[in-house]
Amino acid sequence: MSSMASPAGRAHLFSRKPIPSGIELLQGNKLPEHRFSRGPFSPWSPPEKTTPDAVLTRALASKTKEATDGLTPEKREQLNLPIYQIREKLLRAVDLSDVVVITAETGAGKSTQVPQMLLDQGYTVTMTQPRRLAASSVALRIAKERGEELGEEVGYRHALHEAVSSDSKLIISTDGFELRKALYGPRHEQSDVLIIDEFHERNQSMDALLAVHEKRLNEYRHGKGPKPPKLIIMSATIDAETLSERFGAPVLTAKGRAYPIERREPGESIAHDAISLAYQGKNVLVFLPGKPEIRAMQDQLDELGVDAEVLPLHSQLTAEEQERCFQSFDRAKIILATNIAETSITIPDIDAVIDSGLEKDVELVDGVETLSAKDVSKFNVFQRMGRCGRCGPGVYIYHGQTPIDQLAPMPSPEIERVALEKLFLTLSCAGESIERLPFLNRPPQENIDLARKALYQLNLLGPTDFPTEEGRRVSELPVDVRTGKMLARAEEMDRSTPGLLENAIDIASIIEAEGIVVPESKKRWRKLCEGEFESDHIAQLRVFHAAKEKAPFVADNFGIDATAFRRAIEMSHL
Ligand code: ADP
Ligand code: MG
Repeated sequence: MSSMASPAGRAHLFSRKPIPSGIELLQGNKLPEHRFSRGPFSPWSPPEKTTPDAVLTRALASKTKEATDGLTPEKREQLNLPIYQIREKLLRAVDLSDVVVITAETGAGKSTQVPQMLLDQGYTVTMTQPRRLAASSVALRIAKERGEELGEEVGYRHALHEAVSSDSKLIISTDGFELRKALYGPRHEQSDVLIIDEFHERNQSMDALLAVHEKRLNEYRHGKGPKPPKLIIMSATIDAETLSERFGAPVLTAKGRAYPIERREPGESIAHDAISLAYQGKNVLVFLPGKPEIRAMQDQLDELGVDAEVLPLHSQLTAEEQERCFQSFDRAKIILATNIAETSITIPDIDAVIDSGLEKDVELVDGVETLSAKDVSKFNVFQRMGRCGRCGPGVYIYHGQTPIDQLAPMPSPEIERVALEKLFLTLSCAGESIERLPFLNRPPQENIDLARKALYQLNLLGPTDFPTEEGRRVSELPVDVRTGKMLARAEEMDRSTPGLLENAIDIASIIEAEGIVVPESKKRWRKLCEGEFESDHIAQLRVFHAAKEKAPFVADNFGIDATAFRRAIEMSHL
């Protein structure tokens, strides 16, 4: 089963100082001044170099054809990226400090080059990404630059899939996966360096990972625990100052970006702009808040008679469907994406970004998580804009109602807004306390109390916050606690009622796919589950089984959401 991935967390408010927006940066305003200071002393000797980086050093010194012999064409292209300005300083900083902060503009080469700089020095590296798609696509690109197969020296892993081997020295992982590893994994297996990339996202796993790291670093500094990995915190848009002060960390800043981005005024509508850009032969990436808006935009483009490859991109698609967006076609493509495409990834041939200025965000209302479309912040605008101008000049069109300069500088950290049951349980099972970890932004006490109460009622937590046996099992399952409880219970009852677990897994997969039926087509899918009135879940389970029997079939004839159906099948096989 897949992780019931927490809705992507957004950036945060841990500074009162405004961060320059992407627009300001692009207009030439400066990034925070570069600072390089030595962090607190720690007895650290660099690991023995296993991969001599003589070729790279030679190639950087002189970018002639001869000097770059031995590098792949992909790697050769990268040598001009701004991030190479700070390579020497970075290597020194990692030598001397426990924590290093790196800021550089989108496209500067942070995600793809920084881990390689360390790998080439002989460090083993783990780098986190906020999303599974980002983890696998960044790993793939790095392996390609090094002329290697994915899963050899460079690999990735997340809750659903992994491509790693015993030779892997650079592993890209999701922050959720890495949090579990930090909590439960054997300490001797940790890598020399941990990079938390795209830190501005501030999802709850990142915040928890940083808090666990800080606690361990403090223990180590007081002689009470083993040395944690060196930590690098990286983003185009983080409050470097606050992090630097908190950890005594040097801040390294690389200036400039590879290609300029032109900002254009919005036209009649998003659809009109997309079509006119596609007509000029440009590949377009459109940011929309969610799946329904993507579907509506597909219809609108069809009605307007678009002549382009129109591709949806959201987390509910199968990996194969997501992969299509990275392909080139013999006509322009228009990708309709949620903020799954906002950070980390490079779709190399994107020429233009159109931004609705909206995103779906979770908020806890009376203890229930609700999703609603809201204005993005300047941080998000900067990131979205940064998805073009990566492999050539870019165009950015903002369609939001609120003018960019009136947007919030950054959104609040996810940990302040979401239900905390899962995090509470995960930490408790690892012997950590959500109330005592040194979070950058403490989760609200009210939300902690709500989570405690819910876990207690579900019998996952006993008195004194000690997890029950069932609680331990549920914490291992990559789903939310209520679905996890259903699975754990089914697992137990399956011994006396064989087949129960299989059905429970199917239901969990349907929940993960956010339902497989089209609500408005009830008349059609009802035929597949006649007589079932008690439970929506059982009704969908019956539709799921009946549809599987009928495959191949025309989903629309039965009122089934084909994408969600494929997704549920994929999930149920994991
Ligand atoms: P950052 O993390 O600083 O935003 P990246 O390291 O992700 O930057 O990418 C730096 C540059 O490398 C991109 O602007 C692009 O030119 C190139 N690049 C990265 N990934 C790919 C890819 N998959 N295909 C082609 N070019 C890529
Ligand atoms: Mg990046």
